[in-house]
Amino acid sequence: MKFKILNGTVYDPSQNINGKKQDLYVDDGLIVKPEKSKIKDYQNTYDAKGMIVMAGAIDIHSHIAGGNVNNARLLSPEIHSNFLEYNLNRKKLLPGFNSRWTSEGTGYRYAEMGFTTVIEPAVLPINAFLTQLELEKIPMIDKGCLGIVGNDTLLLDALNKKKGQSFIDDYVAWNINSSKCLGLKVINAGGSEFFKRTGESESFNLDDIVPEYGVSSRQILESLNIANENLKIPHPVHVHCNNLGMAGNISSVLSTIDAAQGRRMHLAHIQFYGYDSKGKKGFSSGSQELAEKINKNKNISVDIGQVMFKPTMTISSDIWKQNQSKLHANPKKWVISEIEDGGGGIIPYEYKEKNFVNALQWAIGLELFLLIKDPWRVFLTTDHPNGAPFTSYPELIRLLMDLDFRNSELDKINNYAKDMSDLKFIKRTYSFYELAIMTRAAPAKILGLTDRGSLKFGSVADISIYNPKKPIDKMFRNAEYVFKNGIEIVKNGKVHKNLKTSTKCLKLSYDKNIHKKIKEWFENYYSLSLKEFEIDETYFGEKNFQNIEKAG
Ligand SMILES: [Zn+2]
Repeated sequence: MKFKILNGTVYDPSQNINGKKQDLYVDDGLIVKPEKSKIKDYQNTYDAKGMIVMAGAIDIHSHIAGGNVNNARLLSPEIHSNFLEYNLNRKKLLPGFNSRWTSEGTGYRYAEMGFTTVIEPAVLPINAFLTQLELEKIPMIDKGCLGIVGNDTLLLDALNKKKGQSFIDDYVAWNINSSKCLGLKVINAGGSEFFKRTGESESFNLDDIVPEYGVSSRQILESLNIANENLKIPHPVHVHCNNLGMAGNISSVLSTIDAAQGRRMHLAHIQFYGYDSKGKKGFSSGSQELAEKINKNKNISVDIGQVMFKPTMTISSDIWKQNQSKLHANPKKWVISEIEDGGGGIIPYEYKEKNFVNALQWAIGLELFLLIKDPWRVFLTTDHPNGAPFTSYPELIRLLMDLDFRNSELDKINNYAKDMSDLKFIKRTYSFYELAIMTRAAPAKILGLTDRGSLKFGSVADISIYNPKKPIDKMFRNAEYVFKNGIEIVKNGKVHKNLKTSTKCLKLSYDKNIHKKIKEWFENYYSLSLKEFEIDETYFGEKNFQNIEKAG
């Protein structure tokens, strides 16, 4: 379908367009530049006078599907029943609208905020089939996954026996291809295997050794980072560092940045690592030091994992860490699960503004957003649902853009946390242009999704239109219009259509001789066979998976 969007104020950092009046033309799902003689064919018109026009937003790190998400749903059915009771009489006609945290609901709520692509950042190879089936069920937004590697016995054995980097490259490529992922995720490299073999310990650092394999966390991380580089995977290796959530863990993230040795690396939810151990409670903000390190190391990108004050679920494949956190479960229930070469921990939690630690976590996240100077290297996340549900983004955006609002929220938090935080001295606010970098142009670039995050000709027509006359949080909660693939899916802030979308993945080339070795390992040591790990596309819709082109 052909249509035009006239008179909008456009923010598109991919073309250095900063609040300029510009018209857009869409034909057959793409943004186009029609010849003058053809403009008359674009009869269907949206008048965006006084409105802000941006590309559809992209979330780089949000746990929206898979084994841990389902365990969390099972653990807390009350979330659904309360919501259902409240919504029963709303009589929405769209599937899944009246229940919470469903696959459909995830798509609807992202779309209403103007998001059109979301990355599920932690897919265990053994869970990949289920995760991909669930992702296919999420409408409105395109999806992509990061595959978890780093605690797998085959990899640890290969490092132990010095089988060489090309063996590891081939194994990683097989993993990415068979689970239809877009990139590589490393979670506490070696830490889960360490935990399974030794039980509890206070910390697991880069130079600690995984028993029986004799390899350090650093060796695992380095070999995977080199594999990521050798395989020319567009997204840098996506790292969940060691010692998440612990006082004094800033040393872990700083040494991980050094361990990257100048190679590209993405550090996930760094708010959970911005912790020093000063002050009378032994817990303080390390944001100045961490931000300075990130500002200096241009090879590093990060997302924040902002905490917001509300009840949520913490879900993670870092079972070592989750096992420690289970003491803080609120309400008192939790799941720690172990599955082939991985596992997960699910712990409900409520962040409270009067709680010293929670209040400082909130402040540290905001400090990092505001002290890291380059919006091309810092991304908007709450590590959904770990720091807060993704539906908190509008309020978080307001905290970044509106100084008075931020200061009034700061006044409500625990007094000692407020005293210890530098947030009160930081005057910076994000502009619409910087927000468009952080949520559109930069994530598209760093994920290698070259067809989006931009309004240039030839891009997918994923477009969000917002009304700046509304308060910032309301503006970003309910977009005036959202178009996905050139189809209007949101009008006046409400989803009015269930649109099937696709999952982006990579197809890497590698030496197929690795298959025999992987098969042997699985037959000897795994309870499930190799074919359980290799996704069979015949179970999915014909156009569900779309390979992205990789550069180089
Ligand atoms: Zn995460």
